[in-house]
Amino acid sequence: MNWLMAHRVAGIAAANLRRRLDLPEDCYVDVFAALRRCGLMVAGQDMASLFGMYFPPGPSRHGGILLNSTMGEATIRHTAAHELGHAELGHGRCLADGRDPFSATPPQQWPDEEKQAEAFAAWFLMPIRAVKTTLTRLGLDVPREAMDVYQLSLHLSTSYRGTLRHVQHLRMVTPGVARGWAAVTPTRLRARLGGQVAGRAWELSGLTEGSRLPVERGDRLVVRAPWLGDSPYFTGPDGVTMLAEPRAVSPGDGVEFDITGCIDSESVLTVRSRDRREAWSVTLMPTPDDHRGLIASARTQLLVGPMSGARR
Ligand SMILES: [Zn+2]
Repeated sequence: MNWLMAHRVAGIAAANLRRRLDLPEDCYVDVFAALRRCGLMVAGQDMASLFGMYFPPGPSRHGGILLNSTMGEATIRHTAAHELGHAELGHGRCLADGRDPFSATPPQQWPDEEKQAEAFAAWFLMPIRAVKTTLTRLGLDVPREAMDVYQLSLHLSTSYRGTLRHVQHLRMVTPGVARGWAAVTPTRLRARLGGQVAGRAWELSGLTEGSRLPVERGDRLVVRAPWLGDSPYFTGPDGVTMLAEPRAVSPGDGVEFDITGCIDSESVLTVRSRDRREAWSVTLMPTPDDHRGLIASARTQLLVGPMSGARR
């Protein structure tokens, strides 16, 4: 099976599953909610050399997946969606190969089931409507530079490389351009926006007002909003700090925030002009509760699924 065929099969399977679970098509996809509703056990563990594993259901046991909890959020989500793909496509056991599946074996030589699961992950996490809606919020019809792909990946909580491959597959970017952008690292893109940023750097504007942002501790939010004037003030959850000296925006052109603490539940961040006439707000969406254990600590084992129904 070639990749084109794998994408065709996986794209249909991903759309069918989203429809069956009544998941939104135009925004961030909560893959852990999907796993739970599919009746799969999910466990996170510190694993030396694997991204994840899938075990199909047997006569007397539930199917399940095991994820490497030391990976970053986007990689964990991708692996979870990859393993969900195996389950949905009725595959046998998967031991997801090596720490970097994209360098160890040339993609042309992947087994058919791996090609399909990998394509499923992309289509499941990045439905075409979600890509288009997010690009519109970024003021774009297609990505124009590497930074646009990076920003798209933040909104969808997907990896930069995975998002780049997907927009190429959607024919929004030519293979030659994508190759060039693949050489740009997220670290360089972050530095362009915020200098020294521990986490990721979001570039926000009037167009992204009202968005729901899957933020993580360590992220920086650069808000370009000149209409808010000098010295705007904000209301938001604990764990959000406004920078006294913004780096990417000049005084009067906007504000910057660091996510310095843990945000427990969805919270609104609102910035207001001094005269209170103008405002800008977004909803900060922390990592959903049912997989926070995976992210917070590599040692914390998390279990969701039909047997437990709870974290532990
Ligand atoms: Zn696999």
